[in-house]
Amino acid sequence: MRLSTYFLPVLKETPNEAQIVSHRLMLRAGMIRQSSAGIYSWLPLGLKVLRKIEAIVREEQNRAGAQELLMPTIQSAELWQESGRYDAYGPEMLRIRDRHDREMLYGPTNEEQITEIFRGLAKSYRDVPKILYHIQWKFRDEIRPRFGVMRGREFLMKDSYSFDVSAEGARKAYFKMFVAYLRTFARLGLKAIPMRADTGPIGGDLSHEFIILAETGESQVFCHKSFLEKDPLALDLDYEGDLSPVFEDWTRDYAATEEMHDEAKAAEAGDDLVTARGIEVGHIFYFGTKYSKPMGAVVAGPDGQPITLEMGSYGIGVSRLVGAIIEACHDDAGIIWPESVAPFKVGLVNLKQGDEGTDAMCDRLNAELAKAGVEVLYDDRDERAGAKFATMDLIGLPYQLVVGPKGLKDGVVEIKTRATGERETLTPEAAIAKLTA
Ligand code: ATP
Ligand code: MG
Repeated sequence: MRLSTYFLPVLKETPNEAQIVSHRLMLRAGMIRQSSAGIYSWLPLGLKVLRKIEAIVREEQNRAGAQELLMPTIQSAELWQESGRYDAYGPEMLRIRDRHDREMLYGPTNEEQITEIFRGLAKSYRDVPKILYHIQWKFRDEIRPRFGVMRGREFLMKDSYSFDVSAEGARKAYFKMFVAYLRTFARLGLKAIPMRADTGPIGGDLSHEFIILAETGESQVFCHKSFLEKDPLALDLDYEGDLSPVFEDWTRDYAATEEMHDEAKAAEAGDDLVTARGIEVGHIFYFGTKYSKPMGAVVAGPDGQPITLEMGSYGIGVSRLVGAIIEACHDDAGIIWPESVAPFKVGLVNLKQGDEGTDAMCDRLNAELAKAGVEVLYDDRDERAGAKFATMDLIGLPYQLVVGPKGLKDGVVEIKTRATGERETLTPEAAIAKLTA
């Protein structure tokens, strides 16, 4: 992609409505534009990152055996009257009337809708277990939308729902999602810590919020420092095998949000207790028959008797993650994307646009990298080198490939690694080899 033709409206000034660094950087890097409070348009650069996060979330859901479907954003109020949540949900729900004066709503979540689908179509115990998910926009009329996409009103969520005929089965589904979440966040370059969350009247230990540590987090959290060293990607996984040892290993040490904080238990961690601010990026929850019972979601058991389905739900804040990753990965100059979600892998910087030699070399590098499947943003603008470097640092691509007449005289180009600032001088061939490795 040539920057001269790309729609990348970077801002020089820091927008003063943005209170936290991720919001400032997303506006400055031309990733989003506010439409109204808590509602954003995603510009090309921002959308690319959103889609990459979505793809990783999807891959890990599929790997765990969850199946994707797509439910609508607009729902009928009737479903929510059945579950008893229509009145309980309060002003966070955006209520709408259609032309026939029927009550509708913009879904803030989909438990009711998926329960209705399952109760209508699944008949037998042989139709479970199942985990179904979708990645769909939600609307919650948050009292204080803020921090850009981190607390929006319209936001993209991945929500999965599990159906089982026994609590034992539901526990297995929970472990699958627990492990899938560990893997998902690790692949996104994040250390997300599973923290015990409130299970309400259901009780038990099957509710966790996945929290990343960041100074601008909205909640106070506590955890053992052991979590900071653990690597979920090192796990050798079999989703059909017994995942309870993994769950036990990841829930042994203390980790809790403020609401669940227990001073006495935390004290056992001694000097290893970390107190920090946290951002919730996911939440998994086993809630038994909370929706299936009032909504009559049953299947016939082996003896023909009806069994009320055991359910769980599992959410990931896909659009919130764009901001959360920036909170975790930036410096004074701008964003530092983890390679897995970077909008482009390489920023190609032509230090002397219009110089025959540098133009030719840039064209060649651009073409060869593209051929090898590497995504390149080529800064071919007629701009000063300083401005080009500033833009590249701001938008945070993992590698900057710098081409200038001076280097070319010696037959070399330069690669700067954004995360470390490290610079390497090498031949164009070696540069291609490195960036395609
Ligand atoms: P919070 O406590 O932050 O309001 P929640 O408990 O209401 O979150 P859930 O209902 O569990 O959130 O939704 C699942 C995920 O959706 C959350 O873990 C979070 O990542 C994301 N999410 C929730 N509300 C918002 C929002 N207003 N803007 C962006 N993402 C959100
Ligand atoms: Mg909320």
